[in-house]
Amino acid sequence: MHHFVKFDKKLLDKNAIKVINTIQKAGYKAYLVGGCVRDLMLGLQTKDFDIATNAKPEQVNKLFKRSRLIGRRFRLVHVLFNSRDYIEVATFRSGKVKTGKNGVVVRDNHYGKIEDDVLRRDFTINALYYDVEKQEVIDYVGGLQDLEARQIRPIGNAAKRFTEDPVRMIRAVRFAEKLGAEISAEIETAILKQAPLLGNVSPARLYEECIKLFQNEYSFAVYQRLEKYGLLRHLLKQTHNNDFIKKTCNSTSERIKSGKPVTPVFLFAAFLWQAQNERFALIKKQQRSSHLAQLQACDEAIMNQIKQVSLPHYLTARIRNVWMLQAKLEKIQPKKIEWLIENRDFRIAYDFLVLRAQSINPELEKVVDFWSKAQQ
Ligand code: ATP
Ligand code: MG
Repeated sequence: MHHFVKFDKKLLDKNAIKVINTIQKAGYKAYLVGGCVRDLMLGLQTKDFDIATNAKPEQVNKLFKRSRLIGRRFRLVHVLFNSRDYIEVATFRSGKVKTGKNGVVVRDNHYGKIEDDVLRRDFTINALYYDVEKQEVIDYVGGLQDLEARQIRPIGNAAKRFTEDPVRMIRAVRFAEKLGAEISAEIETAILKQAPLLGNVSPARLYEECIKLFQNEYSFAVYQRLEKYGLLRHLLKQTHNNDFIKKTCNSTSERIKSGKPVTPVFLFAAFLWQAQNERFALIKKQQRSSHLAQLQACDEAIMNQIKQVSLPHYLTARIRNVWMLQAKLEKIQPKKIEWLIENRDFRIAYDFLVLRAQSINPELEKVVDFWSKAQQ
């Protein structure tokens, strides 16, 4: 159950170690937990260092000058290091949960021991704890073995755990692709049956998970597996696979691999592009102004989306901008060239045009050539 593992000091986050030391000095226990231990074991770089402790949130909060209590569904502490960096500290909780009508967890603030905390986690590979001082991985559920064998295994019964929290279904898909792992038949069967439960999850929460699904090095593999399991239509019901979607996912992955920035603006603009076009074709039949028809088409595609996965307002404004810029770029009006290049979303709109030309709109190749030269 306890396994001596020495991680390269460089891989461990200094702030996380500081937080653990402070909590332990105050007489409590504190461990690295979850994704970071999993990724460290795999030799992967990880940014997200979470800590689990037997200290109550209020007690943790008191130990740090710069920290705050957050969360409604569960209370957590964020220890702040600067405006962007914080370490999340969670108190051990028991798997005892209060469930609502559909079996969905509505509250689980019952504190417990580490043995209880293990059981509330989703998959065995995510239920590993690391004792920094003793240099030991603590594994109650065979997570190390599953990690070695590349197996995504639920803690407990898959169907039951997915009913409690349907987000676990899309997490299973993401981890399977991340690890190149097998999904057990039990998980597969449960997902095929229970995919519609995603409809019970708040669109805001799904937004966070959606970013994680597609902004990674294995984006398109995740997309295809979500589609195969019938999960995709509960996230992006207007999105249908084509070469443009594939190009978008793959270019996202390539950018991440080469350390370039990525933005959800591009991703969602691409996912909803076809829907927006189809709405536009319909609306234009009744609306003489092409500009107004396009605005309405944009709104409708976005409105349909945010029923499932919400998009922050700043994002929808920029998605609309990228779409509206497509027609302007396609036309090439000499008087507007400079004005367009100075648009804050020109670069994204141009990249968007390039991917369209490389996939669903090969006729745009000449236009792309023009803009490639114009911006030099
Ligand atoms: P990544 O950071 O790559 O998304 P992660 O496993 O760290 O992966 P987080 O969302 O950061 O995912 O969650 C941290 C840990 O919290 C997980 O490893 C898991 O133990 C637990 N966890 C997260 N979401 C759930 C969930 N929906 N149900 C049960 N446990 C969860
Ligand atoms: Mg994490």
